[in-house]
Amino acid sequence: MTASIRFAEISALCAAEGLQALAVLAPPPQELDAAGIDALLADGIGDMGWLKRTRNARLHPLTMLPSARAILLAALPYQPSPGCGELRRARYAAGKDYHNLFRAKLARVGDALASRHQIDWQTRAAVDSAPLNERTLARLGGLGWIGRNALLISPETGSYRLLGALLTEAPLAAHQAGHAQDRCGSCTACETRCPTAALVGRRVLTERCISYLTIEHQGVIPRALAERFAGWWFGCDLCQEACPWNRFAGPAGDPRLTGSEDDRTVLQVDADAFDRHFAGRAIRRIGYPRFRRNLLVALFSLGRRAECAPLITEGLQLVVEQALELGLIAVG
Ligand code: SF4
Ligand code: SF4
Repeated sequence: MTASIRFAEISALCAAEGLQALAVLAPPPQELDAAGIDALLADGIGDMGWLKRTRNARLHPLTMLPSARAILLAALPYQPSPGCGELRRARYAAGKDYHNLFRAKLARVGDALASRHQIDWQTRAAVDSAPLNERTLARLGGLGWIGRNALLISPETGSYRLLGALLTEAPLAAHQAGHAQDRCGSCTACETRCPTAALVGRRVLTERCISYLTIEHQGVIPRALAERFAGWWFGCDLCQEACPWNRFAGPAGDPRLTGSEDDRTVLQVDADAFDRHFAGRAIRRIGYPRFRRNLLVALFSLGRRAECAPLITEGLQLVVEQALELGLIAVG
């Protein structure tokens, strides 16, 4: 029987991958509290039906690897500066798609452990890619508290970071990161800043959130919400920008997560250039029609209506329907 692997060893392997905040749940929890996910489902999940289908798996962290003896939780900081113009996209999408990049880092940590101890332990890495509730697990591991913006916040680095988990058969020593205490206090800055009133009772009302509407929502965005978009065309960081703990945010944990682009560059990306321009980036996942729909809404919300015309005349059905909803063109 292998002795517990000390946290210092795990930490060194993770640091080599740019992973900066860590906790180990050992033994891993068998079942999580259903209250959070059931509230989310009851509030409405729009086009994210997969959340309902994967409810039970999300409540049982070991579904992915029943033989796991530990869950390693890690955070990867992303670029804290917006790196865009008046037309805005989420900071996490500034560079390469974090899903593959972060998952590969975790997998390499698992491989390194197996190699050092010469035991072929099975591992599974998850970064928003499997029915695993990384945020709840990270809270249990003490990586932070769930703020009024419904995000995991660290008193040392704020919330500009991605969360990932490595389930492993390796006998990792338990480690609590020690930041579970709620430090929102009387602050309500994120709720006040949210332009669509999507933050209620420490939950995000999915169908009002700009992040959901620009990334997951398939159809036309209702005008009453669209006019409050404040220029966002992929995701939204306003409730993070408002959070005072983000003044402690450090640099990105991997240079591939960084990048910048101005309004002119984004508006020039046409159908031929879309795949090439956004190759390897999360933005490519929404596809070209939703990208153009989002730009139309973003321009509209900024009052830049003259710039909407080229998007509409391109003739994409979704964009034309969105233009009708916004009153930029008339029926018939
Ligand atoms: S991401 Fe934007 S729209 Fe969504 S809750 Fe935060 S501030 Fe509101
Ligand atoms: S802005 Fe204030 S209330 Fe919102 S998550 Fe940050 S500390 Fe908490």
